[in-house]
Amino acid sequence: MIQCPNCSSKSLVVNTVKERPGTAYTWRSRTCKECRKTFSTREYSLEELAKLIDEGKESMNDLRGQCDDLLSDLAELITQYKTSND
Ligand SMILES: [Zn+2]
Repeated sequence: MIQCPNCSSKSLVVNTVKERPGTAYTWRSRTCKECRKTFSTREYSLEELAKLIDEGKESMNDLRGQCDDLLSDLAELITQYKTSND
């Protein structure tokens, strides 16, 4: 169950859903009904990830690509936090 990262409330509204082509996840922007914090989630289907591993060496690169992609999103998020805390 997804909770608000700010107040742990489970009352959330989904604003936007993005399916990026060639990725194994669905990206959703959500807003907390309690504290109005907006945040995003990236939902992976484990089956999709398992498929990447199962398909062999080349798809392991895809999986690594997925991880790199995730890390770059996180890095961007951390930069935003740092900027907003100044
Ligand atoms: Zn909240």
